[in-house]
Amino acid sequence: MQALREEYRALGHMQLVLSWYAGTQGVASLDRSVHVGHDRLFQRTALDAVTQAQGRATGNDALALTFLKRALASEGVGQATVKFDDAEADAETAATVKLPWLDQPTAFRDADDLIALESDPARRKLVAEAVNAVRASTLNPILEQKEAAAQKAAREAGFADYVALAEEERQVKLEPLLASGIDYLKATESTFRATLDRVAREELGVPREQMRRADWRRLWKSQRLSPYFERSLELKALQAFLSGMGLDLATAAGTEVKVDDSLRPLKRPRAFVTPVDPPGDVRLSVKPAGGLDDYWTLFHEAGHAVHYANATASPFELRFMGYGAPAEAFGELFRYAFADPRWLLRYREFLRSNGRPVPDDAALAAILRRTALFEMYSLRRDGFAKIAYELRLHGRELPEIARSLLPAPDKTTNDLRELYRQLFSIAFTFPLDDDDAQLFRTDVDDLFYAADYARAFVLAGGLQESLRRRFGDDWYGDPAAGAFLRSQLFSQGTALSADQVAERAGFHGLDFAAAAARAQRLVAEADALEKAK
Ligand SMILES: [Zn+2]
Repeated sequence: MQALREEYRALGHMQLVLSWYAGTQGVASLDRSVHVGHDRLFQRTALDAVTQAQGRATGNDALALTFLKRALASEGVGQATVKFDDAEADAETAATVKLPWLDQPTAFRDADDLIALESDPARRKLVAEAVNAVRASTLNPILEQKEAAAQKAAREAGFADYVALAEEERQVKLEPLLASGIDYLKATESTFRATLDRVAREELGVPREQMRRADWRRLWKSQRLSPYFERSLELKALQAFLSGMGLDLATAAGTEVKVDDSLRPLKRPRAFVTPVDPPGDVRLSVKPAGGLDDYWTLFHEAGHAVHYANATASPFELRFMGYGAPAEAFGELFRYAFADPRWLLRYREFLRSNGRPVPDDAALAAILRRTALFEMYSLRRDGFAKIAYELRLHGRELPEIARSLLPAPDKTTNDLRELYRQLFSIAFTFPLDDDDAQLFRTDVDDLFYAADYARAFVLAGGLQESLRRRFGDDWYGDPAAGAFLRSQLFSQGTALSADQVAERAGFHGLDFAAAAARAQRLVAEADALEKAK
């Protein structure tokens, strides 16, 4: 058993190092090569051996074996689909789109950024259509084959279906989670509509109803606020945020989180963290571009970095192979700072002391309102639309509770693309057209990652409230808050479930009604801040 664990750990270590270089240098993924010769890890005999060892283990060792078993089962399915992932990645890298106003073709992967920076709605529509044509002709057929292979592999691994495997992997019951997501959808409907309408007019120059799916990128870029989110200050702002709480990028092993902030052309544009071997080897990649959305992502990733850099639980499975929802919640907790007037006041002082333009109260309110809107958008999308859609995609019937919300349910019975269109139109509160719905295969994450995100958004809101109660409104300046996060939560790695994290932070479980109430309060706080003189 020990040999099997060490082999899996070594394999994972190599995969993570290679994925770091794939993300930061643009080198080709070598996942398939790395797996060669390790087939025995993913066969039933290995799973049976872990099950036997579980029977003899106690305490942390038993938990470690549980995590190991889940990882092996889901990676077994991953083995069956890795060739489609590679094919899709290669097709994406090779694809270009031709736009009438540009001499040279644009790389498929750069097209989203083009949309974010394009002020003309007609041109944004043309970019979106060109990108969707690539999806329809090239990517979707590969992903359709991947879906069939994944469903088959899940059954061969002994699960009733792919959904049952995902529920075991993420320790979640998807139908009750979807029911909570629908409650949240309904509870935030009017606040979300009004807030989105206002922000769409400010950032896009159109009312909510005239938005298109591809406009989200530009909306979150928040051009109006760009003077306050310079790219040269991103890492410095992060440092100011962390140091207020007595946190930093030092690891519990005495090393530093490795930060790559170069602007290499082939580097992945969005910030990401690779927990290569926590706590001693944690890496953060950022390609600063400026803008509110870039700051959000960096702060979220910093939550991952600080979490893993302080993960000291043992054995190693506990540090990074356990529960996913709390790990994402720690990322969101840091992003949510931009929805808190107290952090925004600190941020204003930070800009002032760096000799930069200083946002007035109305600008701070705009930042708060966009972050609150993003919180609602994320939960409506992941907690409702994605879970409902992916249940059907992976072969289940659409639960009646979701079906009853559809404007034309009969049209969706045998049409995944139409189902995607209707569900996401409900979540976003503007109509997607057939072209927008070409995302129905690419806008899917393996094994219901949306279930971890949805729970993470709710948990992060609970953590925000609990830190405020415990350390006061301005907990951003209290080293005791950082010490609490580090010693009570981060040190446990991924060994704590979402409910256990909530318990340690002094509240009970995941409360979607509280998350909806929080969103309404945040929007009200933005309005109050705007009116303040
Ligand atoms: Zn994350």
